[in-house]
Amino acid sequence: MTAERMVDLAVVGAGPAGLTAAVTAADLGLSVALIDAAEQTGGQYWRHPDERHRAAFARPESTGHHHWHRYTDLRDRLQRAVRAGSVRHVAGRQVWRAAAEGAGFALHTTPSVGRDAVPVAERTVRARRVVLATGAYDRQLPVPGWTLPGVMAAGGVQALLKANQVAAGRRAVVAGTGPFLLSVAAGLAEAGVDVVAVCDANALSRWARTPLRALQEPGKLLEGVGYAAQFVRSRVPLYTRTVVTEVRGEGRASAVTLQKVDGRGNPRPGTAREVEADLVAFGWGFTPQLELAVGLGLGTRVDVDASLVVEVDQAQRTTLDGVYAAGEATGIGGAVQSCAEGALAARAAAADAGRDALGRDARRLRRRIARGRRFAVGMHRASPVPEAWSRWLTPDTLVCRCEEVTAAEATDTVGCLGADDARDVRVTARPGMGWCQGRVCGFALAGLVAAETGQAPTAADLDTLAKRPLGVPVRLGDIAALAEDESTRTEHA
Ligand SMILES: Cc1cc2nc3c(=O)[nH]c(=O)nc-3n(C[C@H](O)[C@H](O)[C@H](O)COP(=O)(O)OP(=O)(O)OC[C@H]3O[C@@H](n4cnc5c(N)ncnc54)[C@H](O)[C@@H]3O)c2cc1C
Repeated sequence: MTAERMVDLAVVGAGPAGLTAAVTAADLGLSVALIDAAEQTGGQYWRHPDERHRAAFARPESTGHHHWHRYTDLRDRLQRAVRAGSVRHVAGRQVWRAAAEGAGFALHTTPSVGRDAVPVAERTVRARRVVLATGAYDRQLPVPGWTLPGVMAAGGVQALLKANQVAAGRRAVVAGTGPFLLSVAAGLAEAGVDVVAVCDANALSRWARTPLRALQEPGKLLEGVGYAAQFVRSRVPLYTRTVVTEVRGEGRASAVTLQKVDGRGNPRPGTAREVEADLVAFGWGFTPQLELAVGLGLGTRVDVDASLVVEVDQAQRTTLDGVYAAGEATGIGGAVQSCAEGALAARAAAADAGRDALGRDARRLRRRIARGRRFAVGMHRASPVPEAWSRWLTPDTLVCRCEEVTAAEATDTVGCLGADDARDVRVTARPGMGWCQGRVCGFALAGLVAAETGQAPTAADLDTLAKRPLGVPVRLGDIAALAEDESTRTEHA
């Protein structure tokens, strides 16, 4: 792509944050490229059935999504902007590397599925400015038996329901912490699944410790009341201060052990009981997707929920000029919050490009974001991962599934070989060195090592675990094509 085709703004991610950023920027007169790994927009929150095959689904669009009209409005605005030529929607392609280049940035893309039919010269999107709105993925904790088929991430169960209208089992236990469990359990119950237990590791009374924060988002409180009403109707039992300490089954999950825990997560003796289930959905919060941000060297910080997040200023600007971040990449706060951050990031980019002043709208958005953040802090404090979670493990519990590293192998590296941080353990015992590069086990590994060393992970420790020079798996041909692209550009220069 030549410099003339360089866009004013590239937005990575078409979820609530990125979609809002793209249409807002187009409205403000910027030329925009919106890139997303998925074929259709919506991200995780507004994931929905394939629009090309509506007839194949019982409910063709929304499967009971919240704020669906907000999504259809954004989608209509995007379609108008694409028709007008102000937005190019690069769908079904993943950015595997982002780098500063000349007066802008180069975003190297690869198809999410299948062979690349796009000529090498058109695989790289070049932009003067970039908004990273890459969202988050499910945070997982290991437990004995968690590798059995039938055990899934709660977000994965939700994604199947929303996109495919498929229930992942018949008899489900939903366990972990936080309000997302309620949404998943309600979706399963509505789909006719027998939800035999929803287990939150924390007590609901933790919300009462920060009542002012909880009241910042009345809409979310009402959502919670709606789930409670549905649980009563569908006879779904909610157990608090309860965790799954083991999943059992021959070849696939068929039963779980539930156990009461104290405030730190230590199992209470004599409270274990077995419940039959063929689906176990675990949700321990979300981990922001930061490969591109860390690759660009953006400043990061550790958030209240112990996640590494991108550091942004009052206008969503990151520590690198020309790069903005919005949505879950800057802290887990929900879709409405993500939309406000996306709109503000676009306004900041337009202001920095001299197209618009950060005016009254920006002040309104900032107030909205501050309110959402206050709620998010309350939510994270009410729903922490229990500090004693590693007590639920047995020595042979797999922590890293890719490299098959057990809990004992990881902790022995600290106790016997003197490793003193997660990076040391990683390079010595190899957890986090396989196919997923620590995306799944990174949080658990950092926690295990912290429990052994007595040192909480710092932003630098988490940065090391999030550092993946290749943001997504790529073919060797993609890497080789970089050189081809470079020589074509030099010839045309
Ligand atoms: C599996 C899952 C299910 C969830 N379901 C719910 C729910 O039902 N209710 C709820 O309240 N919250 C849910 N959440 C939380 C939810 O993510 C947020 O509230 C909201 O969607 C955040 O918006 P976002 O725009 O920041 O990110 P997302 O919605 O996650 O959007 C990020 C987008 O970036 C794209 N992307 C990421 N990296 C790249 C890359 N390198 N190249 C190209 N594209 C990229 C992704 O494909 C994705 O579409 C879910 C989270 C997950 C992980």
